[in-house]
This record gives sequence, C-alpha cells and structure tokens, in this order.
Amino acid sequence: MLLKSDFKKVEEFKRILDTSKSIVLTTHHNPDGDAVGSILGLYHALKSKGYPVVAVTPNGFPDFLSWMPCSDEVIRYSDQKIIAVERILNADIVICLDFNGFKRTEEMGEYLMQSKGKKILIDHHPNPENHFDLQFSFTEVSSTCELVYELLSASFANDSVTTDSAICLFVGIMTDTGSFSYACSRGRTFQVAGELIAKGVNVEKVQGLVYNNFSAERMRLMGFSLNEKMKVLPEYKTAYISLTKEELKRFKNKMGDTEGFVNLPLAIKGIVFSVLFVEHDSFVKVSLRSRGSFPVNEISQKHFNGGGHMNAAGGKAFMSLSQVENFFEEILKSYSTILNKS
Ligand code: 5GP
Ligand code: MN
Repeated sequence: MLLKSDFKKVEEFKRILDTSKSIVLTTHHNPDGDAVGSILGLYHALKSKGYPVVAVTPNGFPDFLSWMPCSDEVIRYSDQKIIAVERILNADIVICLDFNGFKRTEEMGEYLMQSKGKKILIDHHPNPENHFDLQFSFTEVSSTCELVYELLSASFANDSVTTDSAICLFVGIMTDTGSFSYACSRGRTFQVAGELIAKGVNVEKVQGLVYNNFSAERMRLMGFSLNEKMKVLPEYKTAYISLTKEELKRFKNKMGDTEGFVNLPLAIKGIVFSVLFVEHDSFVKVSLRSRGSFPVNEISQKHFNGGGHMNAAGGKAFMSLSQVENFFEEILKSYSTILNKS
C-alpha cells in the first residue's frame, strides 16, 4: 500500500509521464518472473492509456517467461544493441524495475547512466543507489509487480490494468513468493492477487506455463543435482549444490533450467541456508536462499560481489568452481553460531 506521503510522488509520476514522448521500461540482466512481469505489466497498462512506451531488457529470458503477452515486443539489448541504445539514450523517461543499481544491467548500465531521460525507480530491494530522480522503493511488498499494481491503481484509478497487464503482474507476484509460500505475510499481497484474478488471470493456466514448461533433460538435471551434487552440512544447517559447465552441457542446459534448484535443499528438515553454484566461462554464478532471519544478502554482498533480499540473494565469484566450494566451506565457519541459532 502506498503511503499518504507518496501521493505527491504519484502526482509527479503522472506529470512526468504526461509530458514524455518516449518512455523506456527496463529491468535487470537475466530477468526473472518479477522482472519480466513488472516491465510487461506496466507496458500493457501504459500502452492502454496511450503512452509512448517500449520495454528493453539487457538480455533474453527463458521459455517459461516467454509466453507472456507481448514478450516478443521486448527489445533485447544483447541481440539488438543499436536500437536498444538509441531508445535508452533518447528516452524522456527510463523506468527501472526490479533492480536498484545500474550495475545489475551489466554492460547496458553505461547507457542508462548516459541517458538524458529522467530515471524513475520502482523496486523492492533494500538500499537503492542514488541514480534516480523519482523513487518508489518499498522492501515490504512481495514483489515489484505488487508495487506496480499499487502505483497503477493510485495513478489511474485502476482502469489501466488490462487482462494482459494483470497476467504479467500475477506472474511476478507468484514467482517472487514461491507461489504464495514466502515474502507474502501481508494480507495485501493476497488482496492484490485477488484483484488481478478478478481482471481475468487463469491461475491454473499461468501456473502450468511457468512451472510445467520444462524439458525432460531439465528434470533429469534436477534429479542429478539432488542425487549426486548436493552436499549437506548439518553442522551449519546448510546445503549446497554446484554444477560444472560439463554437467550443464551433458543435460542440454538451456537458459532458466537451473531456476528454482537453489530452493530445493530448504525442504530438508533443519536446513536454513542453501546455495547453488553454477560454473560459467569467466565466473561462478552464486544463488543464495535462507529461511528465517539469516541474511543471505549480507553474505552475497560481502563475499560474492552481489546483493539481494534477506532470504534470496545472488552474486558472482571470480575463481574456479572447486575454489569457490572451498572458500564457501571456509567462510561458513564464521557463521556457525548465527546459523545454529537460526
Ligand atoms: P538469483 O539467485 O535468483 O539469481 O537471485 C536472487 C535475488 O538476488 C534476485 O532477485 C536479486 O534480488 C538478487 N541478485 C541476484 N544476482 C545479483 C547480483 O549479481 N547483484 C545483486 N546486487 N543482487 C543480485
Ligand atoms: Mn523481484
């Protein structure tokens, strides 16, 4: 729910929209459900109101998100650099969704920085950087999609949320809350979900398109990860999975295939901290999740060049996979007391 004091900012948001000839919506690199959902949810809503809007992502996104209405209209910087840069540099407004520092867009961040447009932030991560002219930044909402819904409702009396917009926004709330199992202790999240459903979201269909849309190889990779690659460290209430490039290749890994794997060890009784290490050409991608009060964003910030939320964070390690594993087991020792209290 937006606070009363935010309504001045809503008016300012409307005023800036109304005077803009070119609006760019953008999000972070390797966009997840909340990232794609929030740019497309806002894209549909602003388009329905006649605003000149385009959506630009730093790179592509997986099949389980590519079915969303108008996802083919998104300009992917990695494939369409010239047009993406032209749009960003000449925008009157750049609206940044589901991230709060330009570094999260990787190479594209340089152009966001150079853009002459006003920068507006709509996001739910802690500690936004100070690139932004106008900020809607709330950590208490489940997702950026929930916040977009609140902002649209406050700006346009709710009639901008079309069925297509509602579908996209529902995806982000659903994926960022693990299908309403975490980050949704506020009743308002369920009210927003209900209002989106009332606008025509078919929940069963959306669930199927997001969660039952994988290859057989991806399921086998998941089985392999749990059976052969998961290391459980009960003395630290921790479990981790690491996957090499060769293993990914063996299971015909496609973008998005390892999505969700990091959550699996948290189903083990007593495990409160789970990590997934995935080997890339020049770095190891690190995903961290926790239950309760163990702040994985602090771990990611301190040790893995990243950040995120208290219970879901990510980053990168610039060492070999086996070095990362050793490094991780070493740093775990210093968190032993806090982990065992969790
Ligand atoms: P994932 O593990 O799914 O890649 O990311 C989980 C969450 O961690 C994301 O929603 C995002 O908030 C955060 N995150 C992931 N990678 C990075 C990163 O490289 N830098 C920062 N600051 N946050 C990240
Ligand atoms: Mn999010």
